[in-house]
Formats: sequence, C-alpha cells, structure tokens
Amino acid sequence: MDTAPIKLLLVQQDPELAQWLQQLLQESASFDFTCKTIATLHEYKEMAEPEYDVVLLDLPGTDLSRIETYSYANTLFPLTPIVVLTDSPEDQPMLDITKLGVQDYISKKTLDGRTLVYAIRYARERKKLELQKDEFLGFASHELKTPVTSIKSYTQLIELQAVTTPSLPACKLLPLVFKVDAQVTKLTYLINELLDVTKVQAGKLDFHFEPFLIDQLVEEVIESMQMTTQRHTIERSGATGAYVNGDKERTLQVLVNLLSNAIKYSPQADRISVALSNGDGKVAIAIQDYGIGINPENQARIFERFFRVNDHQKETYPGLGLGLYIASEITKRQNGKLLVESTEGEGSTFLLELPVVYHQEMPAH
Ligand code: ADP
Repeated sequence: MDTAPIKLLLVQQDPELAQWLQQLLQESASFDFTCKTIATLHEYKEMAEPEYDVVLLDLPGTDLSRIETYSYANTLFPLTPIVVLTDSPEDQPMLDITKLGVQDYISKKTLDGRTLVYAIRYARERKKLELQKDEFLGFASHELKTPVTSIKSYTQLIELQAVTTPSLPACKLLPLVFKVDAQVTKLTYLINELLDVTKVQAGKLDFHFEPFLIDQLVEEVIESMQMTTQRHTIERSGATGAYVNGDKERTLQVLVNLLSNAIKYSPQADRISVALSNGDGKVAIAIQDYGIGINPENQARIFERFFRVNDHQKETYPGLGLGLYIASEITKRQNGKLLVESTEGEGSTFLLELPVVYHQEMPAH
C-alpha cells in the first residue's frame, strides 16, 4: 500500500483563507499529508520541487478569467488531479471548467473539512482512472495495429506470389493463409474484449443460465488451449461431477482468459496445473502457473478495468488490461468468486468458484 504522505499544493492568494484550509485539513484528514501554499500559479514555475499529488486551486470571484486560470493549471499539471475551490459553483464558467475535465470542485460557502477530504480522495481516483484510460487508448491502438500490420504483409505476399508465379498451385499459399487466419483470430479476440467491456459497463452483457457439467467444460477448454502452446503441458487433476447454473459460453470465456494469461505470463515454465474440487455447495477451479507472479500491491488491482502491471511488463507482454476485469464481472453475475494467490517470481493461482446446482452420479472407482 502507498503510505507516503500525500503532497498537496494549495494555490491561494488570501493568506488567512490558506491558513484556514490547512487547519481544516489537519482536523479532518485521515491520511498523512504535506501542504505547500503559493499565492499564484506563476510562483509554481520558480519552485524547486515540481511533483505534487493534488492541486487545490482557488478560483475566486465570478469572472471569466477563471476558465483561463484553470486551463493554465491544467497545462502545468497534466498528470495531477486538480480540485477547484469556488465562490460560485453554479455559474456557467464553472460548468465550462467541468467540461474541461476538472476532477472536482467545491463551493467555499459550504466548505467543511469532510467535504475537502472527500474531494481530494475522489479527485485522485478520478484522475487515476482518466490516466489509465488515456494510456489504454494508446496501447489498445497499438495492440490492434500489430495484427493488422501482419495481415497486410501476408496478403501482400500472397498477391505477389500469385502474380509472379501464376502456375503456383493454390495449396502452396495455404501456410500464408493460415497465418492470416491466426492474426484475424487475434484481432477478433481483441475486438470482442473491447465490445464486452462496453457491454459490462452498460450492464448489457447477455447471460443464458442453464445447468452444465463443469468437468466437461474444463476439459474442452484445456484441450483447445493446449493447441495454442507448444511449450506448456496443461495438467488437469480432480473431477467434481457437479452441474453449475451459469452461462456456459461466458464461463468458457473466463477459463480461456485465465488459461491464456497463465500461458502468457509464464514464458519460461513448461507446465500449468488445473485442479477441480468441490464442497460447501460450490466448485473450485484452480489454475496455477509457474511464471512471473504478481506482487501483493498489484494483486489488489489486477481486476480493475484497464489495469496492467508496470511499464516493463507492458512492453514485454501484449494485452489490454481488460480480461480479468471482464472475467470478474462475469463471475459476479454468476454468483461466483474469482480470487488470486501469487508470489512474485514463482507464479500465480487463479481460483474460480461457482455455485453448484446438483451433482451427477459419479462412477465408482
Ligand atoms: P492483459 O490483457 O493485460 O493480460 P488482464 O486483465 O487479463 O489483462 O490482466 C491484468 C494484468 O494482470 C496483466 O496485465 C498482468 O500484469 C497481470 N496478470 C494477469 N494474469 C497473470 C498471471 N497469470 N501471472 C502474472 N501476471 C498476471
């Protein structure tokens, strides 16, 4: 957890008001913080320490120059949440400032310590999500472009061969066609992830609930995922004979996601274990890899929308940071649980739990 004191920059011309605000914060903040006060944004340029976690910007008065001041602050602090303090929260310039993307604004007339503390908290969360979204757009475009570029090169190659060697039997071009097909599959997967995340958000993800045998589904997924990796052997253990009441296709989607992550994030390992068990009215499917693992801080965040682990990993492993978010939303809708246990450098186990509706007769051993 991030326990470093929050660094606040207060831009406030009135020294008395500045003192009062600091006092409010001292009385109400449940977090550690430091607060530096400057009278105007111009002073900021001369400051030695440029990094702040939150900017509290007072925009006094009612004139239009507030919009300019806010825009200027936005260019000075493109990565920092800004909370605006205002005398007139309901007038047009404040609405315009909202459209420009201010993280929060509070009225000085009704200001108290709690409001200020909440505003700081929410502003930080909003800005974090906003930055993740911006970054997401960058790597989503990149991820989409990669298969498109490959498809383009393969089709050019097919065209070239067909034109330069008209006598070439069509079957000789098949290996290239398979490559195009693989890239189209990749592209379709990415596009489906993007569509699903939009549907999840709008609460429009379709579900067709019906009982299905979980062992059989796991078997099918293992079989098809085994075909995607030559390096890993996917080992299965346990059988439950349990029927789960859920959407079979969506559950398949979750399992595919967990297994493809297990493969992707364990490039040096040669096996993945899938263990099925049941008890207490639920089945548990544990998917264990022996790969790079996830540190405790990131474990708490991997189910968030757009979240991907650090820059180095982002470059090494392709992905959109949506799969686990979608998987956990699907699991919630099925009254299940998706949990992670992991040790950095040793590997991860993702545990999918789903409620059982009934059991099939198990053959006697
Ligand atoms: P992505 O498309 O980036 O793989 P996910 O939502 O599936 O998106 O996963 C989010 C992040 O969680 C990944 O970027 C990765 O850092 C981490 N992660 C997921 N599964 C594993 C795993 N099995 N081992 C290590 N890290 C993982």
